[in-house]
Amino acid sequence: MSAFHERILFPFSAIVGQDKMKTALILNAINPSIGGVLIRGERGTAKSTAVRSLATLLPDQDVVKGCQFGCDPNEPDSMCLECRKKYQAKEIEKVTRKMRVVELPVSSTEDKVVGTLDISEAIKSGDKKFDPGVLAEANRNILYVDEVNLLNDHIVDVLLDAAAMGLNTVEREGISFSHPSNFILIGTMNPEEGDLRPQLLDRFGLCVSIEGIDDPEVRLEIIKRKMDFDRDPVSFKKKFEPSDDEIRNRIIEAKKILPEVMIGDDILRKIVNICIDSGVDGHRGDIAMMKVSSTLAAYRGRKEVTTEDLKDTADMVLLHRMKKTPFSDMKLDKGKIDEIITK
Ligand SMILES: [Zn+2]
Repeated sequence: MSAFHERILFPFSAIVGQDKMKTALILNAINPSIGGVLIRGERGTAKSTAVRSLATLLPDQDVVKGCQFGCDPNEPDSMCLECRKKYQAKEIEKVTRKMRVVELPVSSTEDKVVGTLDISEAIKSGDKKFDPGVLAEANRNILYVDEVNLLNDHIVDVLLDAAAMGLNTVEREGISFSHPSNFILIGTMNPEEGDLRPQLLDRFGLCVSIEGIDDPEVRLEIIKRKMDFDRDPVSFKKKFEPSDDEIRNRIIEAKKILPEVMIGDDILRKIVNICIDSGVDGHRGDIAMMKVSSTLAAYRGRKEVTTEDLKDTADMVLLHRMKKTPFSDMKLDKGKIDEIITK
């Protein structure tokens, strides 16, 4: 393949099985306020393939023309300084772009992540010349870190700061520059290679654990598809285009109906009971479950949350929010949760 051609991504709908992981990714594409997903699983379980494929399903978004941070033309509060000036002068021009998956390599330096400020230029002319980093590109997009558990502690702090403020601030010799940095964090990791710092774990809205597949028929299908894709990515993509299109349209529809989704008192009561029973700290679990089950209802084309939506989202919301005991291995008592839901 020539470097001038766009890289062809493995179609999302061609990934065999792993429905939980796929649902978690789709829910984030519909509702970014879910706050990302951490995918845990051994090597070779299609984690990275799935995250990268998600890019083909992401909806379009309006951005300010020419802005290197991709500011939202309709949200002056979250704009960079330059866009805000344009907004006040009524000089904003809109363009449409696709929401993207921006990858942060685990070996990235701080400069590469936050960007660099040209001090000599600032002293000479008073102009702040800023060379944007990954956090600039990630604004309003998905920030993907493969092997997120191996990320250097200092870079983790930088990410956590930016995520908490929705802002990236670079300071050098008393001169500082800030720009908006609101991103959906998606991480993949192999738990055998070490765990994640609790503060970082808390940052993920959802967490899914995926396991290797033992069924020989399913494994056969996986390697066949991989072979077909490698042999002829263009025709392979074409074959799965209708099913990818279908998911994309469902995402667009779900975004539209999400604000109208209702959640009844009986369902809310079940959510509270599940969270109490699973030993989740504070109210963040309750709120997250409310949000995630509503988003799933919207994806299923419903305007009302049902017990089925709770069943299908409880573990991805609660697993990483439970109080840890020294011997706990991020496992949820499925039977107990089903019992509360069907009560
Ligand atoms: Zn801007």
